[in-house]
Amino acid sequence: MSLKERDKKHIWHPLTQHKIHPDSLPIVKAEGALLFDDEGKEYIDGIASWYTAMYGHCNPYIIEKVNEQMRKLDQIVFAGFTHEPAIRLSEELIKILPDNQEKIFFSDNGSTANEVGIKMALQYHFNKGEKRNTIIAFNDGFHGDTFGAMSASGLSVYNGPFEDFFIDVQRIPTPNKDNFDEVMKQLQKIINSYNVAAFIYEPLVQGANAMHMFEAEFLNEILQICAANNIITIADEVMTGFGKTGTNFASEYVVTKPDIISMSKALTAGFVPMAVTSCTQEIYDAFLDDSVGKAFFHAHTYSANPIACSVAIAGIELLGSEEIQKNIQTIIKSHQDFDTKIKNHPKVKTTRQQGVIYALDLDIEMDRYGKKRYEIFDHFMQNGVCLRPLGKTIYILPPYVITKNQLDKIYNTIIELLEVV
Ligand SMILES: *Cc1c(COP(=O)(O)O)cnc(C)c1O
Repeated sequence: MSLKERDKKHIWHPLTQHKIHPDSLPIVKAEGALLFDDEGKEYIDGIASWYTAMYGHCNPYIIEKVNEQMRKLDQIVFAGFTHEPAIRLSEELIKILPDNQEKIFFSDNGSTANEVGIKMALQYHFNKGEKRNTIIAFNDGFHGDTFGAMSASGLSVYNGPFEDFFIDVQRIPTPNKDNFDEVMKQLQKIINSYNVAAFIYEPLVQGANAMHMFEAEFLNEILQICAANNIITIADEVMTGFGKTGTNFASEYVVTKPDIISMSKALTAGFVPMAVTSCTQEIYDAFLDDSVGKAFFHAHTYSANPIACSVAIAGIELLGSEEIQKNIQTIIKSHQDFDTKIKNHPKVKTTRQQGVIYALDLDIEMDRYGKKRYEIFDHFMQNGVCLRPLGKTIYILPPYVITKNQLDKIYNTIIELLEVV
């Protein structure tokens, strides 16, 4: 039996309506920016496998580091024990995170990193003797699929069946120059009417919301209001972290820094799952007490797994290397040139870019999960390019190691699509 057939027997895929889409494509090998399927066909991974494999698939430097670590220490309980890879990773993260971040808490996926951030914020107020129960989030944000993270997310296909079970969340629109005053008014009204504990947001780029981008100044004003009201701010950098916006973290573009930052995805470069929630000294200090009750009672069995830590350290080393930094600049410039070429195309409605993230909206009628979306996806795959359109939005978020030829092939396949769509 083929892999496709065997897959169908027992596997339940995420985000998949199996009745309409029974087949999943088996990938048997990956290298650099390339994926290979079970028939030997190759695809350029234009989205770095959901923004994880930024230094290239099966990066040999990371493999070497993992190999070393696997022979030394595989796993150890992280309550009451510690190890060098976690310590070293905390040091390396603090070096590249915004200056106000001091403490590193480990978990194992992006949703959970946000869940931890939300729980930290709620317990911060609880520990200070304040009853605060409301979270503020953007209308169309995405923070993950666990209950707290899902409650804060605003995309309805994900949330529909669960809305009755959500934690308390009040939503505001993502700010732009036209709605900014209205957003600030709504924010103030929520702060006056509810006991607001935290504000969670994706800084500058909302990935699942079709790569929606917004300006740092508007976000900064919201963060200032939050700070003035002792509302804990949580930057969800799960997607934007580790160089994608052109700086290590998107929060660097915003003057006011968040109290808490969640990260995952590129943290472990596509090798193994891991996540981190960082916070300020002030947050951490609110959990210090003579009673155990004020401690943060949250753990995952694989918290700070040493092998995952060794991957993350190697990833950060690569991110800081001259070669990767140069590649990031080359990709940014190359996206800009592509943009000049296509932004006035009659089938292109709008385009946007932040760092290596480039997105365009097609000027055609279609549903986010409609038939057309799959036709566009097929066009790319048949041409050996792996891009996953978000409705009418086509975006590129390539691994930093992508070659000029590979990038050109992605661009050309998009240009061809514009001719046939
Ligand atoms: C992917 C993503 C998440 C969820 O991370 P998982 O590892 O899939 O749980 C949360 N927030 C943002 C911004 C993401 O892009």
